[in-house]
Amino acid sequence: MVTNLLNLTNTTMKMHPESLMMSHGYNPHWSEGAIKCPIFQTSTFVFKSAEEGKAYFELAYGLREKEQEEQTGLIYSRLNNPDLEILEGRLALWDEAEDCAVFESGMSAITTVLMEFLRPGDLLLYSRPVYGGTAHFVEHILPEFGIHVMAYDPDMGVDEIEQMMREAGLEDALAMVYVETPANPTNTLIDIRAMRELADRFALEGERPVVAVDNTYLGPLWQHPLEHGADLVMYSATKYIGGHSDVIAGAVLGDAERMQRIKTMRTFLGNMAGPWTGWLLMRSLETLKVRMDKQLTNAQRVAEYLADHPAVRQVHYLGLLTEADGEAYRIYQRQCSAPGAMVSFEVKGGEKEAFAFLNNLKLVKLAVSLGSTESLAQHPASMTHAGIAPEDKVAMGIHDNLVRLSVGVEHPDDLIADLDRALTAIPVPAEEINI
Ligand SMILES: *Cc1c(COP(=O)(O)O)cnc(C)c1O
Repeated sequence: MVTNLLNLTNTTMKMHPESLMMSHGYNPHWSEGAIKCPIFQTSTFVFKSAEEGKAYFELAYGLREKEQEEQTGLIYSRLNNPDLEILEGRLALWDEAEDCAVFESGMSAITTVLMEFLRPGDLLLYSRPVYGGTAHFVEHILPEFGIHVMAYDPDMGVDEIEQMMREAGLEDALAMVYVETPANPTNTLIDIRAMRELADRFALEGERPVVAVDNTYLGPLWQHPLEHGADLVMYSATKYIGGHSDVIAGAVLGDAERMQRIKTMRTFLGNMAGPWTGWLLMRSLETLKVRMDKQLTNAQRVAEYLADHPAVRQVHYLGLLTEADGEAYRIYQRQCSAPGAMVSFEVKGGEKEAFAFLNNLKLVKLAVSLGSTESLAQHPASMTHAGIAPEDKVAMGIHDNLVRLSVGVEHPDDLIADLDRALTAIPVPAEEINI
């Protein structure tokens, strides 16, 4: 059984996660000495005896407590599969989480968390802006199940948010605080600790609202929400974790008790990742640290270059925050270990100028998604955030001249040359000529 081998890692636990990504949780001697974990492309697993099958099901259905040293056996690939279990063990190392569950998409990870912890009559408090798919599910689908939803803006303090809930008469219904930070596409920050403090204010008989953080933008390297009081951390593993723009996947991490609930929900929704996805992500994790390190140094150079360019009005990058940015700078210092590889910037002009820039890129590809080896650029106002009401877009800083860049692992000189060529191709906007 796969999980037995976790003993092997007790001795290696003090190593850095990147040192363990090639070996953690896998013994080559299970598989003819194969150095890599094979793809266990199987739907079901053979029991050694009827007694063993019975014992596995007793645990799977929670009919009795686990005995000491007893492991959950492999039954059927909707419940568990070696490629998923080993991957989950490895992913848990980065966030030092007790357990992890992987899914066939980031959206299925997020929606499973929402479905498990919300019931009719409950209130979900969520940060704005959130990822478009999340916003759609929260605003259009959850209310159909009788769940109240309420958005808060990054500049609102906990007292102000509490006041807003009280005015709506919903403060006693608070069941989850959902956070996405830094917010996509503007890199606006939310203080996770403050959101936990808010949840603590509404604890009833030892139960308190769940604090769940979508950490796709900075994780799992540059921000660890569990350390800052979050209960659950969620990922679109399609982004940095997968990292090669070739797979859609998701993950949730947290304490054993909540993860058990999430895994049970996953079993019955049937939205677990398949073995092939598990294998691809294990391969990706081996290079996670080197990829993300390179993306980070490239992004810092790109952001500094853009900040000095005459065709650029403003750059939104965590690595450019200074004391003068006040609260954002303080949250950044406390909560993030690096500024990441997502840079957004406003060109001088509007949509026409932004499009001229995008249409003239060659090395950087015009595509949505982020966190992968190749650099990507897109226009949030008309693409990823097209569904947001115009007045809300303005309030969130998603203007027609905003471009979002995900910086990849290319040579920084080539990236900058490409950006430079595309910026030079922007016709000088009328407002500039008037000056
Ligand atoms: C992409 C993304 C998601 C959705 O993930 P999928 O893997 O596309 O389902 C959720 N949150 C954030 C912040 C994302 O960037």
